[in-house]
Amino acid sequence: MASITINKNFFYHNLNQIALQTGSIEKIAIVLKDNAYGHGLSLMAELASSFGIKHAVVRKTHEALEIETLFDTVLVLGDKAIKHPCYSYALNSLADIAHAQKGAKVELKVDTGMHRNGIAITELDEALEAITKQGLELVGLMTHYRSADVLSSEFFWQQKQFASLQKQVKEAGFSTIRIHSHNSASILRSKSFDEDVVRVGIGAYGYNELPSIFDSIALKPILSLYATKIASREIKEGQRVGYGGNFVATRVMHISTYDLGYGDGWYRHHTDTPFMTAEALPILGRVSMDFISIESNKEQICIMNDAQKVAKQWDTISYEVTTTLHKEIERTIV
Ligand SMILES: *Cc1c(COP(=O)(O)O)cnc(C)c1O
Repeated sequence: MASITINKNFFYHNLNQIALQTGSIEKIAIVLKDNAYGHGLSLMAELASSFGIKHAVVRKTHEALEIETLFDTVLVLGDKAIKHPCYSYALNSLADIAHAQKGAKVELKVDTGMHRNGIAITELDEALEAITKQGLELVGLMTHYRSADVLSSEFFWQQKQFASLQKQVKEAGFSTIRIHSHNSASILRSKSFDEDVVRVGIGAYGYNELPSIFDSIALKPILSLYATKIASREIKEGQRVGYGGNFVATRVMHISTYDLGYGDGWYRHHTDTPFMTAEALPILGRVSMDFISIESNKEQICIMNDAQKVAKQWDTISYEVTTTLHKEIERTIV
């Protein structure tokens, strides 16, 4: 199988850059959902914890269970709220409140304009009442921006909505709750920060997805993907490689088969323009389930060390490139 390395110094560099924006490490909540964006849940949780990060964010309770000893708090974004000393649960709807277990710590998510998750602004009073009636412990108020990475007024419009909600919630008697709205894009563009915590995912993994119009904070991609040679052969001019024979040799070539394919979460994609690896060697012909072919005799080839470059070739975003990498690929810290 292919292998992945995680660069610890680069990860710490990224966290330091984010800490400069928040003012302290204590205000960073590292987002570890979806196998830490494909980087490896427990490995990334341990690295983050050893750096001094105290708060984590995951999608499901079973992920929280895997990492709970490493953090003071774990926010679960999308699961039924249960009572637990360090878990808190995002409440995405009035129905979530009704289904929550008595005594559970909860953070109310308010829809300030993204219209994906969260209660409507007009439901605020009803939600606060239901939280009290249900015996839940409200520990946070949160929202999510729909276009933090776009230079427009929308971001400020959502922030304004959120500010007025905070006032309302605090006036209703919930004065000690934590307030958070920022993801990577919004904290990286922020000139001032006065909330309690940021939910940082992609930035910590080394990608600044803001367009260049914003002051760019240099982050370093921490994940590299390698494939190992399985077999080599010489092919003559006119011989074809892989399914469909899409690649045709134009000369004598010494090619090798490497152990990476769409079974590992590597895109098959189209072959009109061959994928260019980090070592500037093109993948020849189609990607198989477990194999690719490359003109090389090297034992190991770095397929990628910058998911943004890969995303450009595939017309997607860095998030998708790393998140699809299979859980079973061995990940080691360098
Ligand atoms: C995934 C997620 C984040 C992290 O977003 P990044 O862009 O990766 O920093 C923050 N908040 C919520 C609610 C999320 O779902």
